[in-house]
Amino acid sequence: MRLRNISGSREVIGESRFVIHNPEQYKGKWAEVFGSHKPLYIEIGMGKGRFLMELAKANPEIHFIGIEKYSSVLLRAIQKMEQEPLDNVYFIRMDAEAITEVFGREEVDRIYLNFSDPWPKDRHAKRRLPSRQFLARYDKILKKDGCLEFKTDNKELFEFALEELEPANWRADQVTYDLHGDEEMCRGNIMTEYEERFSSMGNPIYKYVIRR
Ligand code: SAM
Repeated sequence: MRLRNISGSREVIGESRFVIHNPEQYKGKWAEVFGSHKPLYIEIGMGKGRFLMELAKANPEIHFIGIEKYSSVLLRAIQKMEQEPLDNVYFIRMDAEAITEVFGREEVDRIYLNFSDPWPKDRHAKRRLPSRQFLARYDKILKKDGCLEFKTDNKELFEFALEELEPANWRADQVTYDLHGDEEMCRGNIMTEYEERFSSMGNPIYKYVIRR
């Protein structure tokens, strides 16, 4: 999802109180940013932030950080926060490749990946957010009993993600090839922008919850 050439988006982000600038300086100290100790959940590739903000609204006892690579997309999330500010949410504009520079060892309680870019060419496999290279990064920042939740409508990407688990020493706790038809896994489900779009076209939604 890239909204191109939105003039001034970098300036808006640079001045936004909802965005953490220089996030590396808070590595291991995110509770200080929020002003209290609570579980920390992050979403990587949050897009316009609808999922994260709905989840945060329903869970004030948890701190949330949304990570997005592109300014033009992050701008939309900032605009939503300006309309309805949440004090348990911050955003970071960054490439998730640098995630271990931003969060300390076992600092994060849960990671969400929603409708991650598929990077279909084999030579780009390591850029996929559920790849073994990214799982190794998540392993460093996620608490030992923490979990990662991944949703997608892309079957090839989902099958790739499942195959990456064993070599990366993760295990699937829950797996479904039809989230919306799975009463247990769908309980409390919050739809992302992509999920709404693709499920309304009739695409099944795949989801796993994984741990080490
Ligand atoms: N999660 C949203 C949803 O489900 O509606 C957006 C899905 S969109 C297909 C994927 C998003 O992930 C895009 O906004 C993209 O910019 C972001 N993204 C992709 N790779 C990323 C990375 N390495 N670091 C941070 N964000 C990334």
